Amino acid sequence: MRIAVARETRDGEMRVALVPELVGKLTGLGYEVAVQPGAGVGSLSSDEEYVESGAIIEDDLSSADVVVSVQPLDIATIRLLKQGTATVSFLPVSTELGLVADLRDTGVTSFAMELVPRISRAQSMDALSSQALVAGYRCAIVAAGMLRRFFPQNMTAAGTIQPAKVVVLGAGVAGLQAIATARRLGAVVSAYDVRAAAAEEIRSMGAKAIDLELETLEGAGGYAREMTEDRAARQRDLLAPHIAAADGLITTAAVPGRQAPMLVTSAMVEQMRPGSVVVDLAAETGGNVEGSVAGEVVRIGHAQVWGGRNVPSQMPGPASRLYAQNIVNILTLMTAKEGEPLFAPDFDDEIVAGSCVTHAGEIRHAPTREALEGSETSA
Ligand code: NAD
Repeated sequence: MRIAVARETRDGEMRVALVPELVGKLTGLGYEVAVQPGAGVGSLSSDEEYVESGAIIEDDLSSADVVVSVQPLDIATIRLLKQGTATVSFLPVSTELGLVADLRDTGVTSFAMELVPRISRAQSMDALSSQALVAGYRCAIVAAGMLRRFFPQNMTAAGTIQPAKVVVLGAGVAGLQAIATARRLGAVVSAYDVRAAAAEEIRSMGAKAIDLELETLEGAGGYAREMTEDRAARQRDLLAPHIAAADGLITTAAVPGRQAPMLVTSAMVEQMRPGSVVVDLAAETGGNVEGSVAGEVVRIGHAQVWGGRNVPSQMPGPASRLYAQNIVNILTLMTAKEGEPLFAPDFDDEIVAGSCVTHAGEIRHAPTREALEGSETSA
C-alpha cells in the first residue's frame, strides 16, 4: 500500500507533510512511501534525502492509497485520485465547501487535521497545537525583531536600560508560547485571556495575568466562548491603558469556527508610544486588531502593525517536523494491527470518526453536511 506525500501548491506554503527522518516510521509499518519531486524543497529536505530514508520519488498521485499534505489538495488533483483513496491534511471545512463536495463526489475518504478531537489520547496527533506552538514562538521573535529596543533590561557601566513591556492577548497554545519566548528574551510580559484557567497558566510562564474583573467565558471543551458586543466593548475599555503602556502587543485570540474577536481598535493602537509594535497572529481570520492586514506591515498611529499570514510556514523546518509526527501518529492509528488491508481506519474510533470529512460518497462531518447539502437543496 502506497502513501504519497504531495508537493504543496498553495501560494506561500513552505511546509511538507512528511520529513525524511520519519519516512522509516511508515515503511516500518509496511507502507511504500512515494514523495512528489521537490516536495521538501521549502523546508530544506531534498529528494535525495527522502530516497536515502527509504522513499521513492514519484510525481503521479493516481496510484496512491493515501495522500498526505499540509494544505488540502486542489480540485484538479483530487479528480486524478482513484476511488477510495484517502487524504489526510488540514481541511478548513467551513471555507472549503466546494472542495468537500468534490471529495464526496469523487469517493475520496478525507480526514481534516483540524477536526482531530482534543482528547488526551489524540494529543500526539494534534496539529493545531503543534503549529500554534511554532506560530506563537515566531510572533514573539517578530515582535523582538521589529522593536528597535532591547527586550531585556541591560545594566551597564553606561547606565541601565529598562526592559521592554509586552502584552499578550489570548493565552492558548500560541499565546503561552509567545509569552514564554518573550520572557526568555527578558521582556516584562503581561497577558489576558477570557478563560478561567488561563490566569494560572499565564503566571506559570512567568508573566503577569491582567485581571480586568470581568466574568470569564468558557465554552465547550475548554475553549473560549464568543462574547456579547457589550462584554467586548467593556473588555476593550479596560485593556486600553495596558496596551497604551506596552512597547509590544501580541494578539493570538481565537474562537473555534468563528471569526477572530476584535479585541483592539485602531484608536487603542493610536495610544501606543512611537516605536511600538503590534503582532496580530489572527490577521488571516479577521484580526484581533482593527486595521491589521495579513501578510503586511501597516502603520497605525505611531505603531507598526504586523499581520500574520500562514505563520507556521515561516518556520517550515520545525513546523514540518512536528506536523509530520502528527501525520505519522494518525496514520499509525489507522493502520490495521494485523492482516490486510494495511490501511484500515476504524470508524468506530472517536478520533477517526471525528476527523473524517468524507467517506464512500458521503459527508461524515455533520455541520459541513448540513451547510453544503442545505445550500445545494436551496440552489
Ligand atoms: P484558540 O487558538 O482557539 O484560541 C487562542 C486563545 O484565545 C484561547 O486561549 C482563548 O481562550 C483566547 N480568546 C478567545 N477569545 C478571547 C477574547 N475575547 N479575549 C482574550 N482571549 C480570547 O485556542 P487553543 O490555543 O487551541 O487552546 C484553547 C484551549 O484548549 C486551551 O485551554 C488549551 O490548553 C486547550 N487545549 C487542549 C488540548 C488537549 O486537551 N489535547 C490541546 C490543545 C489545546
